[in-house]
Amino acid sequence: MTGQQTAVVAGGGIAGLAAAVALRQAGWPVTVLERAPAFKEVGAALGFTGNGLAALGALGLAEQVRAAGQLAPHAGFQDRRGRWLLRVPATRPDRQGITTVCGIHRQRLHAVLRQAAEAAGADLFTGAEVTAVRPGTPGGEPAAVTWRTSSGEYTGQADLVVAADGVRSAVRAQLFPDVRPRYAGSTSWRAVISDTTLAGGLVEVWGPGTEFGALRVSDDQVYWYGEFVHPEGASFPDELAAARAHFSSWAPWIGALVAATAPHQLMRHDVYHLPSGCPRYVSGRVVLIGDAAHAMLPTIGQGAATALEDAVCAGRLIATGPNLATALSAFDQSRRPRCQKLARQAALIARCGFELGPGWRQPLRNTLMRLIPAGPALRSGARITRWTPPASPAHGSVLTSRSL
Ligand SMILES: Cc1cc2nc3c(=O)[nH]c(=O)nc-3n(C[C@H](O)[C@H](O)[C@H](O)COP(=O)(O)OP(=O)(O)OC[C@H]3O[C@@H](n4cnc5c(N)ncnc54)[C@H](O)[C@@H]3O)c2cc1C
Repeated sequence: MTGQQTAVVAGGGIAGLAAAVALRQAGWPVTVLERAPAFKEVGAALGFTGNGLAALGALGLAEQVRAAGQLAPHAGFQDRRGRWLLRVPATRPDRQGITTVCGIHRQRLHAVLRQAAEAAGADLFTGAEVTAVRPGTPGGEPAAVTWRTSSGEYTGQADLVVAADGVRSAVRAQLFPDVRPRYAGSTSWRAVISDTTLAGGLVEVWGPGTEFGALRVSDDQVYWYGEFVHPEGASFPDELAAARAHFSSWAPWIGALVAATAPHQLMRHDVYHLPSGCPRYVSGRVVLIGDAAHAMLPTIGQGAATALEDAVCAGRLIATGPNLATALSAFDQSRRPRCQKLARQAALIARCGFELGPGWRQPLRNTLMRLIPAGPALRSGARITRWTPPASPAHGSVLTSRSL
């Protein structure tokens, strides 16, 4: 531990808390500034794949998250009548790492990360909104962060600023003003409901302008989502009635999940993303991670997983690099191509999935999907879900103040 380098993390979501853990593991004092009045995660649940679990393993948290969630295979894709389009064979042990999905309630994942950041010694502040950043220069002037609380405005210096403040990042808006979130053209109903009957892993279901998915997140809870093409900001007088009507002609198991949903369990969020992501993930002494850098469409379930990968790399590439400029550049070169590729893949899946309109397109897509052999589909999945964290700080060289 150097005890000398300081990091300020803007945002205490999945990316920010995980980065705090990773930076503490590398020996850096870390302060997390979270705008919300309390640390909490909005949204229902999520599923993430083997790369997310590998990142959590690097943070020493894989077992805790497994215990707080449920592992299940990705079973495949169905059409809206419940007929298989592509079945993922998950029986062979060598394939399980590719196809396994961890379903977890967002609040439980967030709690594991927050407790880990606290236990690692990070200073966590809520009600602290980052309003401005002076990026500084690696090897030169430190970065400066300005934040606002109910009692006033403050500015502090840091050797490293981690921008983990989400798709509407204030830090990114200042450093890359041309990169703006765009409405995906779709909105998402989501719910975690009581259920002990659904079995068989994650199934994704495609119908006209819509994708539905369901995944167990505990022994007695199932998470379902329904993403559909819809005008931005438009609401329904009765959201649950609208959801039930939307899925009334879909497979009976889907109708049953929506019917079992109580009004207070249903939430709906319009989906925003950064179509091309950030042109660089670093600027001066600032590194952008998670949705702040590369918010992608949720179609391949990689937003949280890549945020966790970023966090591990912030700790292992940046905090332990030979000097900060080289380390930041290594982070950018390691993370940007992968995240850009995944974002492109998510957009491609959206075109075949929820964005595809009604009529002849649906049977044509379904026929083509049924022709896809499982082998190439699994190889394509493996390129997403197999990820190896960089070597741990124990094997790297810890950054010293002299090398800055
Ligand atoms: C409908 C939908 C379904 C999804 N499903 C999945 C899934 O199944 N699997 C998956 O891997 N991903 C999924 N995602 C993506 C995933 O939710 C995100 O990629 C992930 O939450 C990003 O985490 P983050 O920490 O980068 O950002 P956020 O979760 O947005 O966290 C940002 C944090 O920063 C705080 N903040 C914001 N501005 C400031 C400021 N100025 N100062 C201080 N704090 C600030 C916020 O309050 C928040 O706590 C889904 C997304 C959507 C929209």
